[in-house]
Amino acid sequence: MRKVRAPSVHVKVSAGDNAQVALSINVGQSQARQRLRFGNGNAKLDAAIFTFSLPAGHSCPFAKACLSKSDRAEGSIRDGKHTEFRCYAASMEARHGSVRRSRWGNFEALLACGSKEEMTRLILDSLTPFAGYVRVHDSGDFFSQDYFGAWMEVARQRDRTLFYAYTKALPFWVRCKDDIPENFVLTASYGGSHDRLIEEHGLRYARVVYSEDEAADLGLELDHDDSHAMRHGPSFALLLHGTQPQGTPAAKAVRALRDQGEFGHGYRADSIRIRLGRRPLRLKTMPHD
Ligand code: SF4
Repeated sequence: MRKVRAPSVHVKVSAGDNAQVALSINVGQSQARQRLRFGNGNAKLDAAIFTFSLPAGHSCPFAKACLSKSDRAEGSIRDGKHTEFRCYAASMEARHGSVRRSRWGNFEALLACGSKEEMTRLILDSLTPFAGYVRVHDSGDFFSQDYFGAWMEVARQRDRTLFYAYTKALPFWVRCKDDIPENFVLTASYGGSHDRLIEEHGLRYARVVYSEDEAADLGLELDHDDSHAMRHGPSFALLLHGTQPQGTPAAKAVRALRDQGEFGHGYRADSIRIRLGRRPLRLKTMPHD
């Protein structure tokens, strides 16, 4: 009798003509465990980009100006005490029960892991090795140091994949700032409870702005299609979008942008070339409508 240990998946048994063989296979918990769900692209991203999402707000321990949560069961939105602009990802969850279910499924599977190593294994098991680009957290954020470390380890083991993420989980980042793999591009997102760490540690950042003029005044280029977010480079700006709380400056800014026809016309380049070590990868982008 032979014991098969995870993560083995192939079993070969050879026996001579007269041998008797008893074979039993136990499928352990880790093999039966539910895998994480990845998406492909979104309204502004090419379908070649894999996306990974967690429940907005619920998985964002350092969110402040952007904090909104959609109720898991009903979808209703609750803004935080300091919300200045509503989280677009939370608005999506409010509209679609299937989005909430998928994100909560991912969150619970990760929370059920007992260690960083287990989370790393779960992510590796769930993500095809052929993924070229992964946007970590189309929604949600790094919710613990172990979870942050798990993604860094995934990037080390998948060195032909480019990973990128916006994050407000700056304490987790700065704790291992000198040990971030080259193929994981991080951008600090202003609006969190630990913004001061951005300047203190010279982190590359993104700022949400209410107009193109505001971005120009700040001397920041606008990123409309993640082309800045997925490359190492200077800080940049993001134009406010989504449904904003009524009567707030953010709601007025969104209306003004819509009136100007600003949404959906941010496409600039028809391809992005990114170099990972000595291997260049080429990604076609497409205009969003
Ligand atoms: S950190 Fe991101 S996902 Fe979380 S609430 Fe803020 S904008 Fe939404």
